[in-house]
Amino acid sequence: MKNDIIKKADRVIAATYARFPIVLEKGKGSKVWDTEGTVYTDFLSGIAVCSLGHANPDIANALARQAETLIHVSNLYYTIPQIRVAELLVENSFADRVFFCNSGAEANEAAIKLARKYFKEKGDPSRFRIIAMEQSFHGRTMATLSATGQEKIKKGFDPLLTGFDFVPFNNIKAIEEKVDSSTCAILTEPIQGEGGVRCPDPEYLQRLRKICSEAGILLILDEIQTGIGRTGRLFAYEHYQIEPDIMTLAKALANGVPMGAMLATESVAKAFTAGSHASTFGGTPIVSAASQVVLKTVANKEFLKNCRDKGVYFKEKLQQLKKKYSMISEVRGLGLLLGVKLEIAGHSIVNECLKKGFLINCIQENILRFAPPLIIKDGEIDALIECLDQVFQEIRYSK
Ligand SMILES: *Cc1c(COP(=O)(O)O)cnc(C)c1O
Repeated sequence: MKNDIIKKADRVIAATYARFPIVLEKGKGSKVWDTEGTVYTDFLSGIAVCSLGHANPDIANALARQAETLIHVSNLYYTIPQIRVAELLVENSFADRVFFCNSGAEANEAAIKLARKYFKEKGDPSRFRIIAMEQSFHGRTMATLSATGQEKIKKGFDPLLTGFDFVPFNNIKAIEEKVDSSTCAILTEPIQGEGGVRCPDPEYLQRLRKICSEAGILLILDEIQTGIGRTGRLFAYEHYQIEPDIMTLAKALANGVPMGAMLATESVAKAFTAGSHASTFGGTPIVSAASQVVLKTVANKEFLKNCRDKGVYFKEKLQQLKKKYSMISEVRGLGLLLGVKLEIAGHSIVNECLKKGFLINCIQENILRFAPPLIIKDGEIDALIECLDQVFQEIRYSK
């Protein structure tokens, strides 16, 4: 049965993903089940998306109620769920205004367009270049791909959008040398997600903030992966006592219902006026219903403290594994976005974990990434650690 489904998929679905050979059918909390009835503990949560777990009853109820009331009317009209989500985002962040869209790439597209438009409106049209980071990831649309610092995913799509300069992540000097009268913004993830859970020095973002303020340019933070509690704060920038001018969100914003958002301060946001930018589906009542539940839950201090505590617990356990196995070279990350850098390729480890009932992910060939639901339990973390311990031991003995 499973193989028939996979055969069918491979006939009709674009081959853009190398998928694992399981067909997932249902979920509950941190668990998902495949069509064979096998249960997995999900340490990826749909790539940092389903933070409140699968089949969350509050999300399901909010969606069901909203579906019976109003799903979509377009942004030509006001709707209350969208206003509530915007208020929750504004109340809980640096931002004054929110633009809604449907994905991370779209949120970054909006940010790139706003940064350019801001300087056009200011009468400084020659400032349009954006400094982005090597190893960054900002999406797969043409503009966001152009802003992404990874050659392997840009290959084959030339010519890309012009106006992006790249510098090494976590290197202040490189930024200082790059900023000039054509720069409009610096764009970075606070922690590089797809790039390998790479954390900058604590003072890095503070210094970026200072450089931007002094040069009168914009700091754009892509918090698509790090936002909404993932790092143990509602937004990762809070760890560094700074505020960006623009921030992008998506992934966990509506627990798996597709939603993106671009947030900005009043002075920057006002460069967008009626007709400047748009999205048919952006912030519809149905996605906003889910997002309200997410934001009300995650913005809670106790909830966030629990995420931080779980992150510390999990990281400590990974560090104990590192002491035991020389094939682990580094444990890194913040909150419940954690990475384990290996001296060996990671794909076989991911496959072994899958066989043992755990969904994890490998990025950049040799970095295991963990982004479990924020509601993960200590016992589930312990079980994963035991699984990894076994897998590493098997590798050690097979050598
Ligand atoms: C996932 C991700 C994106 C792209 O989001 P999509 O919804 O896939 O378009 C952009 N930036 C970061 C940091 C991401 O993790």
